[in-house]
Amino acid sequence: MFESVRKALGGVVDALKRKGLLSQGDIDSGLAEVRIGLLGADVDYRVVKTIIARTREACLDEKILKSMSPGEQVVKVLYEQLTEILGGQGGKGIAITHIPFRVMLVGLQGSGKTTTLGKLAVLLKKEGHYPLLIPGDFGRPAAFQQLQKLAADAGVEFYADPADDLTSLVKGADQYARSKSLDVQLLDTQGRHDFDVELMDELRMVRAAYKPDETLVVLDSMIGSKAIPLSRSFDEVAPLSGAIFTKFDSPAQGGAVLSFKEVIGKPVRYIGVGEHIGDLDYFVPERHAARIVGYGDIEGLLKRYDDAEAQARAVKVAKRVQSGKFDLYDLRDQLVELAQVGGINKMLESLPANMVPKGAVVDESIARRFTAIIDSMTDGERRSPAILSASRKRRVARGAGVDVSDINRMLKQFDMFGRMAKMANNRHGSGFGLSGF
Ligand code: GDP
Ligand code: MG
Repeated sequence: MFESVRKALGGVVDALKRKGLLSQGDIDSGLAEVRIGLLGADVDYRVVKTIIARTREACLDEKILKSMSPGEQVVKVLYEQLTEILGGQGGKGIAITHIPFRVMLVGLQGSGKTTTLGKLAVLLKKEGHYPLLIPGDFGRPAAFQQLQKLAADAGVEFYADPADDLTSLVKGADQYARSKSLDVQLLDTQGRHDFDVELMDELRMVRAAYKPDETLVVLDSMIGSKAIPLSRSFDEVAPLSGAIFTKFDSPAQGGAVLSFKEVIGKPVRYIGVGEHIGDLDYFVPERHAARIVGYGDIEGLLKRYDDAEAQARAVKVAKRVQSGKFDLYDLRDQLVELAQVGGINKMLESLPANMVPKGAVVDESIARRFTAIIDSMTDGERRSPAILSASRKRRVARGAGVDVSDINRMLKQFDMFGRMAKMANNRHGSGFGLSGF
């Protein structure tokens, strides 16, 4: 899966990431190749347009970070945009939000509905649920036995009561599930070779009787771009809540998977990766995005990006110190960052040990108190802390719910921080923090 997209993008990604400097022209021609690669993999043209436009826009918005090559930054942006297009961060399958919870699978014959229902039962059981498999495919006599066997293999309950119409089947199954305290009902349905009137009528009827919480369309990855119009037809009759792509282990293009979320507006939830009952995976957008850009160490890349960003901020602060503009707004920024990436402590680490005054390391609760103090000040006080008279300090202390002594400690820290930043700045020339990264 995704082989051809990956191949097409791989070349562009490699070329981009080696480049030291990127012009707008480089980005555009790189993206033009990404575009061809995606279209060649049968990704919906509107989706391709969106990916390219968003990636270009995000590239323009990116800060230029010294320690990363611009090409790597483009790769990072492309990875983020693909993750977004595939459904965003996460990928935990369906959430069973209440009891009883009813799931229904729809799809063409042979797409993998029955097999997938068994696999889903296994996965849900692993999550701690008690599924009931319901044989709702009356079209094929063998479908009943197929699901019954899958239930036995999965070690879950099977609704074996022979009902002769779908409405009494789902009603009976619901009563059975309640009586046995089974929390998830999984309904198999009939598929046909084509989406036709009869299938439509049956779906409408089952839906009305069953009242599903999740209606997932099961799509064979091999049918390629046809999956999208097909899903739309299903969606019109039985509004979909998501999709499952089967046969992900096949050499299919994968374009439809990339298009589904953007075009249908619902997430891909699972992928079938083989014929065995354990072969169902959660669909994890960021994992697939990483595979598509083919960048081996995307996590390393993202980490370096975060570090480079923190470094760029540190340099900015250093410049303000140098020009005498460092004020309590800057300290506040540093304190907020402290909570995220260890800003002040990181800066302190970049100093030789003997230069770090005792008690200079700020812990998080103190950082929070200092932030509250700064928030209670006026703009003038933040810019020129020297004007803080005793009466002003009392007012600020009341506002922040702290003692005046806390304010004095914060101001001392502010002085110390400024002095240290200046020292580190002189030592490293271009800014503090650099040697620490
Ligand atoms: P249904 O008609 O939609 O119920 O389809 P079935 O569940 O009967 O599956 C049709 C065929 O596809 C069976 O031979 C399954 O073993 C196979 N199949 C289903 N899912 C996958 C998958 O993820 N990978 C592979 N390789 N085969 C699958
Ligand atoms: Mg079936």
